[in-house]
Amino acid sequence: MPALTGDFGNPSSIHWFGQQAKTLLDQARQHVARLINAETGEIVFVSGGTEADNLAIRGIVESQKSKGRHIITSKIEHHAVLHTCKDLEKQGCDVTWVPVSSDGIVDPDDVRRALRPDTILISIMHANNEIGTIQPIEEIAKIAAEADVYFHSDGVQSTGKIPVDVKRLNLDLYSISAHKIHGPKGVGALFVKRGTALKPLQTGGGHERNRRSGTENVAGVVGFGEAARIARETLAEEMTRVRALRDRLEGGLQRRIDAIHVNGGNAPRLPNTSNIMVDYAEGEGLVISLDLKNVAVSTGSACSSGSLEPSHVLIAIGKTPDEAHGSLRFSLNAMNTEEDVDYVLDVLPGIVERLRELSPYYRKA
Ligand code: PLP
Repeated sequence: MPALTGDFGNPSSIHWFGQQAKTLLDQARQHVARLINAETGEIVFVSGGTEADNLAIRGIVESQKSKGRHIITSKIEHHAVLHTCKDLEKQGCDVTWVPVSSDGIVDPDDVRRALRPDTILISIMHANNEIGTIQPIEEIAKIAAEADVYFHSDGVQSTGKIPVDVKRLNLDLYSISAHKIHGPKGVGALFVKRGTALKPLQTGGGHERNRRSGTENVAGVVGFGEAARIARETLAEEMTRVRALRDRLEGGLQRRIDAIHVNGGNAPRLPNTSNIMVDYAEGEGLVISLDLKNVAVSTGSACSSGSLEPSHVLIAIGKTPDEAHGSLRFSLNAMNTEEDVDYVLDVLPGIVERLRELSPYYRKA
């Protein structure tokens, strides 16, 4: 609110009014930098996770043209990475899509084997947005460093949920989004390690140390900074509580409903994400029925351009399209309570039963 009402100057202006806004911007940059143990000069504010991913990947491709055009990424990336790499394939880049195990984990040896003399970038997400699996990015970063290849990780889901230390992890580029840590929508950051050769995507006034031109979204950035401060101060305590809620939810559902599975359940996972596959029930039906009971969840599948595509993540972990359509994704947060979880445990079994009654497959089984 201060940045929208009193201190709404332009941080690039040298008069006192602008400098007040600049101070707010600098404070927010410090909070975001601290959350991931970066230097303030390594934080580039952007419009969100999607832009951070685009800037990282396209920026490296543009800056490394003379070295090569080969990118290594995984089959379970968010569309912000997936579609960017697909677009770059059309523009002449070669992309290797490494697979994941049935638990949704990338094998670092697959990344090592995919390296070529013309590889310029490895982009592997930190934690998956649908099933929450945490990738071995420290090992992958080592492989990248040994091969002298830039390493980008999409940290949109992991930041604020698990401790992140970009120095210890030895990352070159790391994407963050404010709205995943209770900050405002439409603002995010790209961590760019000092000395990284990154071609900006936008030309203009040279803001953000020439990495991203355009007058900063000061109010959004300030909200992001505050969310980052709170996330850093409360992460350990809140996430222990959220993990316990998640386990209560999964354990309770497994006791009350037969033939359900937790996707990625055997892998290291984020504390807040639970992807549950319900055999013989259709995901969209589950979401709509839960919505009518005031429970907001999503399916593992994304509805794109009117056609219902099964989730590429669930397909990558070996599910059939039918199985993938029967998945529910719960995202818990620090504001959820045991009562919320118990309410779901009360209402979901009846919903599943009703939907299964409609399924010819369930009756046969
Ligand atoms: N990357 C991941 C892993 C995400 O989960 C998301 C959003 O859901 C994004 C990128 C895109 O972030 P934004 O919505 O801020 O553009």
